[in-house]
Amino acid sequence: MPAYEYTCTNCTEREVRITGIDDHTVICDSCGQVMVRQIDVETLLASYSRQVAQAERTS
Ligand SMILES: [Zn+2]
Repeated sequence: MPAYEYTCTNCTEREVRITGIDDHTVICDSCGQVMVRQIDVETLLASYSRQVAQAERTS
């Protein structure tokens, strides 16, 4: 099973959890809110900056 780093959307707690490949979110132990897998956040940001760069080239 792979281990991923999750960041809480509420209290900014970070935690490495061993989860399935499709477990994009887990529940925070500290506050009970949703934690987002950090690699997903970075992937989203990377694809967003690629779109911005493409938009700047085509305009
Ligand atoms: Zn939390």
